[in-house]
Amino acid sequence: MPMSLGDAMRYEAVIGLEVHTQLLTASKIFCGCGTRFGAPANSQTCPICLGMPGVLPVLNREVVALCIRAGLATHCKIAPFARFARKNYFYPDLPKGYQISMYELPLAEGGYLDIPSDGQTKRICVKRIHMEEDAGKNLHEGIAGGSHVDLNRAGVPLIEIVSDPDLRSSAEAIAYLKRLHEIIIYAGVSDGDMEKGNFRCDANISLRPLGTTALGTRVEIKNVNSFRFIQKALEYEMDRQARLLDSGGIVVQETRLWDAKAGATQAMRGKEEAHDYRYFPEPDLVPLRVDPAWIAEVRAALPELPDAKRERFVAQYGLPEYDAEILTGTRILADFFEETVALYPHPKKISNWVMGVLLREMNREDGGTDAIRIPPAQMADLLTRVETGALSANGAKTVFERMYQTGERAEEAAQALGVTQVNDLDELERIVDAVLAACPKEVARYRAGEAKLIGFFVGQAMKQSRGKGNPARLNALFVRALSPAEPPPERS
Ligand SMILES: [Zn+2]
Repeated sequence: MPMSLGDAMRYEAVIGLEVHTQLLTASKIFCGCGTRFGAPANSQTCPICLGMPGVLPVLNREVVALCIRAGLATHCKIAPFARFARKNYFYPDLPKGYQISMYELPLAEGGYLDIPSDGQTKRICVKRIHMEEDAGKNLHEGIAGGSHVDLNRAGVPLIEIVSDPDLRSSAEAIAYLKRLHEIIIYAGVSDGDMEKGNFRCDANISLRPLGTTALGTRVEIKNVNSFRFIQKALEYEMDRQARLLDSGGIVVQETRLWDAKAGATQAMRGKEEAHDYRYFPEPDLVPLRVDPAWIAEVRAALPELPDAKRERFVAQYGLPEYDAEILTGTRILADFFEETVALYPHPKKISNWVMGVLLREMNREDGGTDAIRIPPAQMADLLTRVETGALSANGAKTVFERMYQTGERAEEAAQALGVTQVNDLDELERIVDAVLAACPKEVARYRAGEAKLIGFFVGQAMKQSRGKGNPARLNALFVRALSPAEPPPERS
């Protein structure tokens, strides 16, 4: 049954997001095992994270510090008293039969993020942030003899960041996720690597008729780890639920998985309620009392966050807001910009290069924008060469592309490409003379008042120099050579 746009417009989406992000610690949350990604299966395990009887967890202090940092970076209040809780369920990748998480007393609460929405800023509440351990991983494919389990990830520290259901469209959901992702990486809480599952999202979504306030029945989409898939999954769900409601059906509360191949969400299981997990306070860990002095210490060590950096870029460098938004999109891009400005103090020129040529080169690669292959000093050197006329603006772009691909310095790349601009006056004058000698008719017309022919002469000279002549200098030479007071010099 095809659905017209008009049907979907009769409903309003109510979306809340739960993000799990892996913390940047060297060891797990309750034992000393490593957290390195890609280690041989079960090589990073011990009796504690294997869930052996009789062992006791010991809380990793750095995990708490990073959770506080995440809380402060999202404007949360840090609770003076927090407590871990057991979330009981059975699954083969969870050897203890429960996950140590937090329930009624999380570490951080009541924060917010400001996101762009329809040209405005919208404030989305961050309801809570709590610490928990990750589970292991079941392996079903490519292994002889049935399914296996790898417990390297069991006990890896996570925080879960829960938003209020303040989001009203897939676009807002993605804007929120991108801003959160940016902040988490800036603050050094997580590397945010989505391909490794270090930043993944569960989305709760329900529809309600426009203009009403009661919440509809929600569906949870579990464990999506790409912005594009989350957007597609949300859009698919809105469409599916709108059709169901239109046809008089009811939405069932359940957990669904995004199937990227099918381009659809699939029902996985009925959605559990909190009471299904029989949460109770974790008896093996003492409650957490967080010293205000420690919170102050973490706050003082927080790096400058994206919002503040954006505002500073506008104020300090006189950049348009659009530029500041893009340049602060990632910390490495912002740092690259500032390091280049320190060597070549023309912020807007650098900004144009970064937004145009640099980002295009970076996006050409699969790795996206997580590394810049050109040192700021080389960027500054290249721009200085344009400034002094050693390179034309167009030549510099070609040089830049080559530098990016080969790792050569500006000078090496320019020489290899043979695009070093000709500035030598003698050489330029020879070209000017040759052009004037070859075009007597145009010279006569220019002298009769057709001043715009200067462009024609410069063009001819550029052709003769195979694009290497400095156009500004050529222009000046032609004007001088053709001026009545000073006839073209005769050369022997
Ligand atoms: Zn362990």
